[in-house]
Amino acid sequence: MITVEGNAKINLTLDILGKRPDGYHEVSMVMQSVSLHDTVKLTKIPKGIELTLNVPGLEADERNLAWRAAALLLRERQVEGGVRIELVKRIPVAAGLAGGSADAAAVLRGVNELYGLGLTLPELCSYGAKLGSDIPFCIMGGTMLATGRGEVLKELEPVPEFWVVLAKPKISVSTAWAYQNYDEQGAEAHPDNAAICEKIKAQDRKGIASLLCNVLESVTIKQYPVIAQYKGWMLEKGALASMMSGSGPTVFGLFADEKAASEAAAYLRSRTDADIFVCQTTGKNENQN
Ligand code: ATP
Repeated sequence: MITVEGNAKINLTLDILGKRPDGYHEVSMVMQSVSLHDTVKLTKIPKGIELTLNVPGLEADERNLAWRAAALLLRERQVEGGVRIELVKRIPVAAGLAGGSADAAAVLRGVNELYGLGLTLPELCSYGAKLGSDIPFCIMGGTMLATGRGEVLKELEPVPEFWVVLAKPKISVSTAWAYQNYDEQGAEAHPDNAAICEKIKAQDRKGIASLLCNVLESVTIKQYPVIAQYKGWMLEKGALASMMSGSGPTVFGLFADEKAASEAAAYLRSRTDADIFVCQTTGKNENQN
């Protein structure tokens, strides 16, 4: 049996460059992995796929990304044998933190190891991209500039370590809704990705914090003002910066140290019914091969 962790991600930036003929949006975004993670335990079984998970209501069958990732790799590599997946979720579902993609990425890395398939991380990324645009990033982890529909990755210097507070309000925002609203309304501001990449290279924490920008944020805040409220509280409690991650609704704050992050988390817990997590930025995943 092997155990693999699938880390959540936050977007330090998210820009939309246009809509492609295939219906996807062309994006350009700086992605960062964080230590909040789901865990998958994988065991060999003679054939097929079995999945158990700890979230009532979340599909535990062939619709689940963890299942689909295992099925894809077993089929494409013509593996004789199956896998039992025990999925322990901590990353909130439909939160803008790529939870499903994190699980798929962990399963791809794990099945590769379990069956000694010898695939490199970039090879696993090409399988992952067939299932979801954020999966290649989740396979690689660390700090990356993601373009195309999110699957074209350029590795950046690891960011200087930040403590991160995540606050997921008890609302659901569908990714499709957020992008559609953007298409109708546009954005108030676009990120300067070249500038933030420079600040990351220079390990300039304040510079990085000053350049966070997500084009989906203003359209989503119009509908869900609670996001602006959480951002305000993060900043009030000393966040270097605060923003909505991905298509939301999770709001994250970047903090210089654990004490500041814990205090902000306690404050948010006392004022909201949000799910709150304290975690850290993490580096890229090791290639097992
Ligand atoms: P992103 O940031 O990539 O847009 P997200 O964090 O907003 O993703 P997910 O948590 O990945 O969203 O879930 C989106 C939907 O995917 C869920 O509503 C659920 O129906 C489906 N799904 C399938 N497999 C999983 C999984 N393993 N974990 C969570 N959701 C899953």
